[in-house]
Parts: sequence; structure tokens; C-alpha cells
Amino acid sequence: MTRYVGRRSPARRILGWLLVALLAGGGIFAVWIYQQLGTLGTESVTPDVWMLSGLGGNVGVLRSERGAVVVDTMTFRMQGERIRETAEALTGREVEVIVNTHYHYDHTHGNPGFPPGLRIVATQRTRALMQAFDHDGYWVSHPEALPNDPFTDRHEIKLGGKTIRSSFLGRGHTDGDLVVQFVEDRVLHLGDLLFHRRYPNIDLEAGGSVREWPATLDRVLAMDGWDHVIPGHGAITDRAGIEQFQRFLRELWAQVQPLAAAGRTLDETLAAVQLREDAGYRAIVIPGILQLDRDFVVRRAWEEASGAVRTRAGMGGESARVAAP
Ligand SMILES: [Zn+2]
Repeated sequence: MTRYVGRRSPARRILGWLLVALLAGGGIFAVWIYQQLGTLGTESVTPDVWMLSGLGGNVGVLRSERGAVVVDTMTFRMQGERIRETAEALTGREVEVIVNTHYHYDHTHGNPGFPPGLRIVATQRTRALMQAFDHDGYWVSHPEALPNDPFTDRHEIKLGGKTIRSSFLGRGHTDGDLVVQFVEDRVLHLGDLLFHRRYPNIDLEAGGSVREWPATLDRVLAMDGWDHVIPGHGAITDRAGIEQFQRFLRELWAQVQPLAAAGRTLDETLAAVQLREDAGYRAIVIPGILQLDRDFVVRRAWEEASGAVRTRAGMGGESARVAAP
């Protein structure tokens, strides 16, 4: 189902629906979408950290004495503007730093809603993926909002009494995701390395891997000094939430890999797999764009295990897919 047709990005397609809804007299639907774009949920994690939620990945906000830090910026420029206003209202400080956990549009396309010249941290790989999978030319139009402070393994900022530590710990959702630690507040933002009680996207074309994802989470679990966890999608959680998602990924691979290795077709595999660790997981569905559900994760695992998709795909862009969240 995540077979994105054509070359229009999902973001542009949502705007297309907005127009269609308006033209068709479906004003209520259009108003609903517009309100969703402008509405942010705000939840306190610690006295200096908040999670913002809306159409797109969860955003982390940190207050320091000298400025605010924002982790991820959702799907639209307009949302980026709202995130900036909200972060400044919550913290009483200007936003000084953006961190992008990975390249997907629902975590990065709000970047242009911030003033040019901000420090924008991401992995080198994420910056390269943003440019390689930039089907609608978004980053060609907004080069000033691309990460300008890229790193490979580890990155640390000291700002107004706070330490913002970003680490690349291995493949999972893509092969460029970073993990952010707000050290003094004992908070981790895992981006889409963690979907909490939701079926995850697995972006094989961008180097994602079901097989390697649990080991990456082991490296997260081995880190010191954190209690609260902000996932890319879903509610604020903790160590137990990461461990549960890790069990789900291990179960998925343990069931699908032997079937694929034995030459079973995708349909046979879909019929045979019986997951238990996904009890209570919600599907993420955007009609016509993507459907992240049980069949999706089984298919992705089967494609990886059977070699139907080359992981670590070159960035030459034979893939016409835009994968997100
Ligand atoms: Zn993502």
C-alpha cells in the first residue's frame, strides 16, 4: 500500500486534497485539515522539556538559559512557524538550534518556518537523503533550511547550562536516524527509531532494516542517564516502551525471515505470520498515501529477508517512492 504513485510528494498531495475538498464544497473537511495544520498538542515532559504533537512526527522542545532547542519540525512550513511560536512562548527564549532526527518530510519540512541562519543539526547521511529523495524539489527551493551542522557519529552542544547530545547508533528506520539526549533533563528523543504502540514505517530504500533495528535499540538501552522517552509517533514513554517495540521487531524478523529463506511467497508469508507483540498497535493510515499496518510491516520484513529490495540502496534514486513518516 505504500506504493506512492507519481512524483508528487505526499505533502503536496495533501494540499491537493485541500483544494479538491474546497472545490467539492467539502468545506468542513478542508477546515478540519487546516485546523490540524495549525493546532499543536503540548505536553510537559520535565520542567524544561515539552513534546508537541500534530500532523507529523512528535517535536521535542528544550529550554536553556540562552535559548530554545527544537527537535524535528513536522510536515509544512506553516507548522514550523507554529512550532517556533509555541517553543518561544513555552520557553521565553528564541529558538537557537534545530535537530532533525531523520530525513522524512514529516520531521523536516517545517524547517523553513524558522529564520534562516539557525544552527540545524542532523547526520551527514540524513542531509544526503534529504537531497537524494527530494522529489518535489522542496530542498532545492529551501537550501537555507537544510542541516548546516552535520555529523557522523556523535555531536554535542552546550547551550545556556544544557547539554544536547546527538548520536548515530545504527540502522533501523533509515540508516541515518540520530538519537537526541537532553542530558540534564534525562530525556531521550528517539525520532522514528521508536513508534510507540503504532506500526512503524521501515524505509528499506533509505537503508532501514528490520534485522538490524533491535541491535540499534540495544545501543540506546545501554546509554546512561535518561528516564523519559519521546517517540517519533505515539505517546511519551520510557525504557519499557523501547523494550516492547524491540520485542515486536524481533518477533517480526524471527517469523518472517525463515519463511522468506524457505522461498515462501509474500502471500504465503502474510498468511502464516502470527504476531503477538503488536497487540494494541494502531495502524497509521493516510488514504491514498500510506498505510502502516500489520501487512505493511510483514511485507517490508519479507522484502528485506528475500532480497526483493536492496537495502543500502544507492542514492541514485531509482526508487520513485517518498517514504514517510
Ligand atoms: Zn520517519
